Amino acid sequence: MIIGIDLGTTNSLVGVFRDGQPRLVPNALGHVLTPSVVSLADDGSMLTGLAARERLATHPQRTVGNFKRWMGSDHEVALGNRHFRAEELSAFILGALKADAEAWLQEPVTEAVITVPAYFNDVQRKATQTAGRLAGLNVERLLNEPTAAGLAYGLQKRTDHSTFLIFDLGGGTFDVSVLEYFEGIVEVRASAGDTRLGGEDFAQALLEQFMRETDLNDADKEAAFADKLFWRVAEQAKRDLSEKESAELTLRIGGQDVTRTIFRDKYEERCAPLLQRLRRPIERALMDARLRPEELDEVVLIGGATRMPMVRQLVARLFGRLPLRTINPDETVALGAAIQAALKSRDAALDEVVLTDVMPYSLGVSVSEEINGQRYHDRFSPIIERNTPVPVSRMKMFSTMESGQKTILLDIRQGESPKSSENLRLGTLEVPVPPRQKGEAEVEVRFTYDANGLLEVEAHVPLTEKTVRSLIHRDSQVMDEASIAVALEKMKDLKIHPRDQQENAYLIQRAKRLYEDHLGNVRETIGHELTRFEVALDTQDERVVRDARADFKSFLDHIDRGFVL
Ligand code: AMP
Repeated sequence: MIIGIDLGTTNSLVGVFRDGQPRLVPNALGHVLTPSVVSLADDGSMLTGLAARERLATHPQRTVGNFKRWMGSDHEVALGNRHFRAEELSAFILGALKADAEAWLQEPVTEAVITVPAYFNDVQRKATQTAGRLAGLNVERLLNEPTAAGLAYGLQKRTDHSTFLIFDLGGGTFDVSVLEYFEGIVEVRASAGDTRLGGEDFAQALLEQFMRETDLNDADKEAAFADKLFWRVAEQAKRDLSEKESAELTLRIGGQDVTRTIFRDKYEERCAPLLQRLRRPIERALMDARLRPEELDEVVLIGGATRMPMVRQLVARLFGRLPLRTINPDETVALGAAIQAALKSRDAALDEVVLTDVMPYSLGVSVSEEINGQRYHDRFSPIIERNTPVPVSRMKMFSTMESGQKTILLDIRQGESPKSSENLRLGTLEVPVPPRQKGEAEVEVRFTYDANGLLEVEAHVPLTEKTVRSLIHRDSQVMDEASIAVALEKMKDLKIHPRDQQENAYLIQRAKRLYEDHLGNVRETIGHELTRFEVALDTQDERVVRDARADFKSFLDHIDRGFVL
């Protein structure tokens, strides 16, 4: 069985295709969303998901979330006295999802389809594949998130030529993609976005609104923005405002509770500049796809922040129609990944569909050019251009600039700048050539880009009939085989928190967070209830533990809802 995974910035999900349809797999707590957070517990074991997320507040030095943004970089995070790359942190989440799928399916799982943002570059895609390997998963395919959303909405079931626009507003990023389905082929025609715009900006706008209505001095304001509790309250109010016309926020400032009611219309006015910023990527994607808004067959909303009515209204206005959002926007990508997994394993319930993506960026090499006797260095010569459907293989010829030159150094880059040094360097390839007059020794450079978005480079020298293949010397952001082996060893001796104890671990971490949040009587009672629960756990009697867990959970729910004891 191949599973489909949405490895998200905030949450991750796993889906499988069963009885002719995609389904989401619940984790040990019975939830389909697993927070993409890991935390190193004091006993040296690794917590993942909700239990880890509770520790963001209580153990910030040992806990980390949002690590998807470091994929494909050398950035290392210290948890306690250990260091981890984004691939390793992601592997803990993937490992937990794999275990959940195995428990649900009652069979071992070794293969997965993992989704990635359409704009992920070669290095980030390689890193995602490595994360899968570290978790013991063979990554059958990396699937672009918008393509997954298109599959979930049945783009591939349409009989005729159709185009979808996928509007994805997540926690921290905004992506727009245009998908096309034609004769059994799904293609990402264009993608654009803003990597610094997401739901969190709307929470910030809400906090600013609160501040405006509260006469605070600058020091209090600064302290409030640094307070995590403050953000949690704002997040809840933001969600309330998606359902209601007003929301009440109570925040403890300078030792006093301050309550304000925020009205949706005022909040929406404050968000106008954010809404304005959503327009540009839409325009760019449509322009790249050479489409007018009315030519689109469907507009699909995904990402949690599209639950905000103002976002839906904006989309409706821009496209002159109601967007599709029949599937839960958090779940769409994982369901699509499950469909792609089934296509891979050739599930009989699915008709044959070929998935084709387009290159999200141009790939090429650095060159020098001679124009009217003048030499220009640092020029970028694209070999495969942005938005070309993949898989693709393209060849281009280059020749020597000097007489007697013995090698041609291919400096492989990706990006859209005509200045090569401004594009991302993927690696270099040294090609020996026989010394000749300048311009006489030539090399045919072939770039092959596969369906996973991974690049292979081949250089053939006609004069010697020799070919240098794929020996791209990558820059250090990509983990090589040796460092993958080291990471695998490191993961082996790190205990992963047992799945059957995850619910208990989550409740304990949640109680500790609430203990920190409160003072006085409430704090004392939380401490007391926590001890009672730990005593019950010590009995190791399944029935006692089950009853205590139910009681403890409803007690914590009570506190979390803000009830006074
Ligand atoms: P994602 O990255 O797709 O999981 O999206 C997460 C973002 O969606 C976060 O910024 C959430 O605050 C936001 N979000 C989730 N539910 C709602 C809601 N009901 N109203 C407004 N924003 C929401």
